[in-house]
Amino acid sequence: MIERKRTKQIRVGDVAVGGDAPVSVQSMTTTKTADVDATLAQVYALRGAGADIVRITCNDIDAAQGLAEIVPRSPVPIVADIHFQYRLALAALEAGVDGLRLNPGNIRKAAHIKAVASAASDRKVPIRIGVNAGSLDKDLLDKYGSAQPQALVESALAEVHLLEGAGFTDIKISVKHSHVPAMVESYRLLSESVDYPLHLGVTEAGPPPAGVMKSVAGIATLLLEGIGDTIRFSLTANPIEEAEAGRRLLEQLGLRERSSLDLVACPSCGRAEVDVVAVVTEAQQALEAEKLPIQVAIMGCVVNGPGEAREADIGIAAGKGKGHLFIKGQVVRVVPEDEMVEALVEEARKLADEGVEARLAAADASAQELASTTATELLAAQGDANRAAERKARVAEVAEGN
Ligand code: SF4
Repeated sequence: MIERKRTKQIRVGDVAVGGDAPVSVQSMTTTKTADVDATLAQVYALRGAGADIVRITCNDIDAAQGLAEIVPRSPVPIVADIHFQYRLALAALEAGVDGLRLNPGNIRKAAHIKAVASAASDRKVPIRIGVNAGSLDKDLLDKYGSAQPQALVESALAEVHLLEGAGFTDIKISVKHSHVPAMVESYRLLSESVDYPLHLGVTEAGPPPAGVMKSVAGIATLLLEGIGDTIRFSLTANPIEEAEAGRRLLEQLGLRERSSLDLVACPSCGRAEVDVVAVVTEAQQALEAEKLPIQVAIMGCVVNGPGEAREADIGIAAGKGKGHLFIKGQVVRVVPEDEMVEALVEEARKLADEGVEARLAAADASAQELASTTATELLAAQGDANRAAERKARVAEVAEGN
């Protein structure tokens, strides 16, 4: 279980962020904001992929006017992304957005920040202080020599003080860096300094798969330490991939209920009785089309498969031309090898409908016995992969000094 740091809770529209609220997933549209229909279509797609909050750029007057049409029709809270022009923050508030993101590196006049804080306060709209290593305040770059974690945190804290000075505390903060260790260090430092909710992200992570790995490395490290209240994967890809990656990460960390298939599969080895990669690919396509939120295991052999995957809801292990279907590690049915995937999908559907107990009760009584006979035969033919008997004999020899 992850013990999360208890931060102050704020609300972005109807989504709570911080405190005991679930970690939320964010993403950002890539359409021109003035193209209202295209932007809304992307917002809906992002929501379908797992985004709880969507950020949209507000980079000119047309974009601000677009927001006025988008916000009332959006299925999720909308945050306006503001750079350089504080007046666009005021315009976005007028358009009805649920949150603002300000970059302290490029909106620097205290009077401007206070004007935005006052308008946001009137509308009960939170502000994210979005510090980014790539657009850090020049004075801080000069002071630290580079975008070091201390520089990012100092930038964030200076903005916090300005907002607090204006009586504004509906704040969340990000200190994004493109270098994973620096990103992690920045958030750790920040978390020690404030109790405001934190928005995690590795900035400019690049295209998948490396971009996903960088984001997972940074975001998961912090979430496992209890740091972080909302996340965004910044990928050079269709933003739907960002939302999906964020949702899947939270599901894998046990921070969000699984809403999609979790496929467990063995890496295959010389003992495999089938082409594991081909079977997994076929099964993945078939099972994803079913959209069942269950854990499915596909194992290359019946010798170790059902036992190694006993935590899975359902699985299949290959054995001598047959597929052994198992539920929670217990073999419930044996089918011809070429019908394995079909049988797996059919059983997965029934399991989702009827539950584990009912499907175990409906198990073929002879299946378990047939599976252990096959496993014994394979062991005899292929030998014990762990060579336990051989190793124990050698241990005894060494112990006895032979
Ligand atoms: S389940 Fe069987 S085939 Fe797959 S890795 Fe384990 S021993 Fe090898």
